[in-house]
Amino acid sequence: MRVTSKIVEQVVSEASGEDVIPLIKYLKDKKNISEFKIAEKIKKEVNETRNMLYRLYEANLVSFIRKKDKKKGWYIYYWTFNPKRIKYLFYDLKRKRLDNLKSRLGREENNYFFICEDNCIRLDFEQATDFNFKCPECGKLVNQEDNAQKIKKIKDEIEKLKKELKKRSN
Ligand SMILES: [Zn+2]
Repeated sequence: MRVTSKIVEQVVSEASGEDVIPLIKYLKDKKNISEFKIAEKIKKEVNETRNMLYRLYEANLVSFIRKKDKKKGWYIYYWTFNPKRIKYLFYDLKRKRLDNLKSRLGREENNYFFICEDNCIRLDFEQATDFNFKCPECGKLVNQEDNAQKIKKIKDEIEKLKKELKKRSN
């Protein structure tokens, strides 16, 4: 698998939030950059920049070294992007998505759902009973939904993800 910058951005924003993308774009091909310089380059306050760096650090996407500033006496942190982590997280996120889809599939297959003709809301059996089978939005009667299409879509997505994950282990 070739790690393109699109994949980097996708993984980074899923793991640490979309707001860190400019930071990663700047840091990507550099080494040991101080947080002050990073803040200056991405035009953010140092505190905000630190917050982003800690979030990236928690996901293991950056590492740091610290050096004591001789004049000021405090420590300055120098950060480096960890590109090896991208590939791992890319598949990790896929695995999580797969688990999610599996439990959604179970929910769809083992429950009855109800919708009104205006499609205001979707209720499970218990909720529909609570509302006396009337839509809480428009008051019309709700009918049992045929969720075969939804189930098929989820199953297709599961198959696709499984294939992508299998490709990796080969
Ligand atoms: Zn309705």
